[in-house]
Amino acid sequence: MNLALNFGLHHKGFAINAFAFSLFFFCAPTDGRAQTTIPTPAPCTVQEGFAPSQDATSATITSLVTQIRQSSYPQLAPIDLRVKTFHSNADYFQTRLSLSRFVLLRRMRYFVEVNLDLFSRQAPAQGVCAILAHELVHVASLSQGNRLRRFGLVRLISKGFSRKFERRTDLEAIHLGYGDGLKAYRAWVYANIPSASLVEKRKRYFSPEEISSLQEGLKRNPELLAYWRKHVPLSLPEITSSPGYSH
Ligand SMILES: [Zn+2]
Repeated sequence: MNLALNFGLHHKGFAINAFAFSLFFFCAPTDGRAQTTIPTPAPCTVQEGFAPSQDATSATITSLVTQIRQSSYPQLAPIDLRVKTFHSNADYFQTRLSLSRFVLLRRMRYFVEVNLDLFSRQAPAQGVCAILAHELVHVASLSQGNRLRRFGLVRLISKGFSRKFERRTDLEAIHLGYGDGLKAYRAWVYANIPSASLVEKRKRYFSPEEISSLQEGLKRNPELLAYWRKHVPLSLPEITSSPGYSH
């Protein structure tokens, strides 16, 4: 019996070539460095020596999550957050919470789950960090407020009204400085999913072009962040026609 509630926060096509982790690399957010409103978290790094086994997969992702959590999300420090693996043919990443603990009013526990197949394909390291930051935005969102609010979120997501939710999550990751990584990840995903899934992907999440426009807008006018949080853009024209976008 699966006692964890699946939110459907899947990221099809998330995969990493084992060799990507065979060398030391870092994936610091870069798009916020010149801006006063977007922080520049410490880089997250992966040490060499990981093998494509279940334990190594978990260790790699756990290391990245810990680093991103410390640099970008210190407020998540008290949160019970664990990394798990799962098997799937189509989904490679998902964020879940323990429904049993939710129902029993116990301390909340969250899971970032990764598909073991993520080592069988090649994804940009910077993109991996960015999509993990996106997942941590989900965790932060789910961990805020009382259980009634969380229950509302669960219902919202389960009904499929998640497009704005996912794009707002992207927006927060961009605000944290992961815009460039997110662009790299999306470009990679588009090339590594069935063509039938591409339209849905582009609808559900910001495309690289849209992310670039969001970054340019925020650089010129940081107040756009508050506007976009309330009015989540669902297309490129909705971004560029936002009040205060062009100065
Ligand atoms: Zn998501």
